[in-house]
Amino acid sequence: MAKLNLKLMQEKLAKLNKKTGGSYLKIEDGKKNLPLRIVPDKDGDPFKEFYFHYRMGEGYGSVLCPKMNSNGRESCAICDFVATLYKGGEVEKEHAKEIKAKNRYYSNVIDRENEGDGVQTWGYSKTVYRKLIETCLDEEYGDITDIDEGFDLRVSKTKDSGKAWFEVNFTPSRKESSLSDDPEKVEKWVESQPDISFKEYTSEEVEDILEQYIATTTGVEGEESRGGGDDTEDKKNKMDAIRQQLSGD
Ligand SMILES: [Zn+2]
Repeated sequence: MAKLNLKLMQEKLAKLNKKTGGSYLKIEDGKKNLPLRIVPDKDGDPFKEFYFHYRMGEGYGSVLCPKMNSNGRESCAICDFVATLYKGGEVEKEHAKEIKAKNRYYSNVIDRENEGDGVQTWGYSKTVYRKLIETCLDEEYGDITDIDEGFDLRVSKTKDSGKAWFEVNFTPSRKESSLSDDPEKVEKWVESQPDISFKEYTSEEVEDILEQYIATTTGVEGEESRGGGDDTEDKKNKMDAIRQQLSGD
């Protein structure tokens, strides 16, 4: 009788453990120096980029842009609408900025203060994304996700005086470390990390969403053109909310 193929069993288990859409890391406002460790991805790219149209979908949810996420292979009615808005006046341009596709980045991480929570997905801004890549290319650090000789990050979510929203930033730890001293933990975290993915929309679905959006916002637009101080305030709050959303939880 053939021996049980242990490697195959391990692969089967890893597949079972592989979560789709894990939990998202929530960083408290004002938090300083939260130690996070990025878990390496098997495809060699632990920093995932996605483009969203914010406050567009059902209940003002975000919509993954089919065009930007396919390098332009698919079309996107919202992007086309944004291009038209940019040809308009100031109000239209502001509106375009609000709904144009914006990028957001994601990595799977271990929160050192709550390792028991396992691998969580951390969403962050372009500023943080750039810094993560720069750190990996910095020869004093190199691959910060290396399971043996990587680096933890110290992540803070602070608000500069005069600003309305919190911003996330990090400094890499100066000391290299392993993902964990326990090889079983390392294997579990790497093998069972969640797939970072979001609901995808076809070009046709996005067209419907845009139609719905235009139908429900036309009334608001009419009020805006009639003027009034509150509208500006409202718009400002809306923009702040989007920035907050973008600057990262
Ligand atoms: Zn788009």
